[in-house]
Amino acid sequence: MNNDIYDLAIIGGGPAGLSAAIYAVRAGLKAVVFEKLVCGGQIVNASKIDNYPGMPHVSGAEFSDKLQEQAEELGAEIIFDEVLCFSKKEDVFELKGEEIYNAKAVVLACGAAPRHLQIPGEAELLGKGASFCATCDGRFFEGKDVAVIGGGNTALYDALYLADICKKVYLIHRRDEFRGSKSAVEKLEKLDNIEFLLNTTPERMLGEKKLEGLEVLQDGKKRTLELSGVFEAVGSVPQGAALNPNLKTTEDGYIKCHENFETSIDGVFVAGDLREKRLRQLTTAVADGAEVVTSVQEYLAK
Ligand code: NAP
Repeated sequence: MNNDIYDLAIIGGGPAGLSAAIYAVRAGLKAVVFEKLVCGGQIVNASKIDNYPGMPHVSGAEFSDKLQEQAEELGAEIIFDEVLCFSKKEDVFELKGEEIYNAKAVVLACGAAPRHLQIPGEAELLGKGASFCATCDGRFFEGKDVAVIGGGNTALYDALYLADICKKVYLIHRRDEFRGSKSAVEKLEKLDNIEFLLNTTPERMLGEKKLEGLEVLQDGKKRTLELSGVFEAVGSVPQGAALNPNLKTTEDGYIKCHENFETSIDGVFVAGDLREKRLRQLTTAVADGAEVVTSVQEYLAK
């Protein structure tokens, strides 16, 4: 049992959570961030961030390290423990991880986790050629043929990153138009070792001890690609709605909130990719983290 009563418990140490921590401690609140293993969230895996205003070429890992350093320097506490559930007892929230923690208000900033393709062979070959992280695993495929699956910015930037390392990169997308940025597509179009496979869906990963290929349906026709690696970049699924049964969510599992970020539970707020919103980007996560603290302060003042 941790005997402190925090003003604010922030669940999740990604850009939204750490930004909330920075704003909270600067507002004089006793704030704690809970993180499972490593701070930074999904952006840690981005090789290069091109659209964060004022920091055009920073890597995801560099950005998260600085954010964590800044939060800690300002006095935010970071506890590496996975919060499994929370409930409200009178006016204080009780959060259960390996220990029990108490806080007067909660910000959910649990973000999202990579979506799985759920095709045959995927579960068996994860870590044996199938990966969700090009920047973490790309080096294992130096001089080899790989595929990236997806049409969003993650897939486009992963393909750009891998093109520098691998012999050939197939970029497989289920539609004929990319969802990600035009500028990234234009950069990819200029590279000789990138092949776009559009209107193509992955059907099965091949190999036993390690990945050897991918079966796809291209314009309705079956094709087998010989590959050493497959990088999945097909979006993400929100995390955290299961922490309390009274949290209201959209059909897709994103947490519903009011304009002031308050959820269906009084005193519980949500920030970042986990909340129902139009644009899920680093900039909007950081902005949520800053703004949510104003609402927390108003709640605490009540
Ligand atoms: P995303 O934008 O949601 O893209 C997911 C892609 O996966 C879409 O193209 C989607 O196809 C495809 N897809 C989904 N389920 C699939 C399935 N079962 N089989 C095959 N394809 C499937 O996700 P994201 O690329 O991870 O990006 C998330 C957010 O982070 C975005 O807002 C993005 O701009 C941002 N981001 C920014 C940067 C950067 O600035 N450097 C880097 C990475 C991400 P459809 O298009 O057909 O739906």
